[in-house]
Amino acid sequence: MAVKPVLMFGNDRLRSKSEPVDFKREDPSADIGDLRDTLRFLREKEGMGRALAAPQIGVLKRIICVDTGAREMILINPLLLARSSDFFEVWDSCFSASLSFFGKVSRHRKIAVSYLSEKGERLVEEFQYDMSELLQHEIDHLEGVLFIDRLIGSNIIMRSEWEKMKGPGY
Ligand SMILES: [Zn+2]
Repeated sequence: MAVKPVLMFGNDRLRSKSEPVDFKREDPSADIGDLRDTLRFLREKEGMGRALAAPQIGVLKRIICVDTGAREMILINPLLLARSSDFFEVWDSCFSASLSFFGKVSRHRKIAVSYLSEKGERLVEEFQYDMSELLQHEIDHLEGVLFIDRLIGSNIIMRSEWEKMKGPGY
């Protein structure tokens, strides 16, 4: 397992659709290990950020690694089963933009996701607010969609301005 380089906005692989993991034919544990190591490294380096999708390290597989500090999880072949009709707005960013700027996007407040665990067990779970918007961002990566595709108007601010807005310790 290793820390991998993160692909940056502009790289074609970030615009590709990722393939489902087939547990009968492949063992995703090496890719999961790389994702986990890379996310841990990035969180330490940046002091923020909560998830990484496999295409961001150049692996076009439907795998997401989440580490919010409170919860670590691996989601394989995630499917959005349901989306609430109500939305909320959030300032989003991405490790593939070096967290250098933020953009305002609209996300479903609540989603239901079906996914496979690291062991290949099928799980279904509901997520709200923070986890909901986070997983919508990550599942978009598996389709080659980036948060800049979902901007409300032209609401982009640099990280230094975002930090002023949020205040210290956010
Ligand atoms: Zn991202």
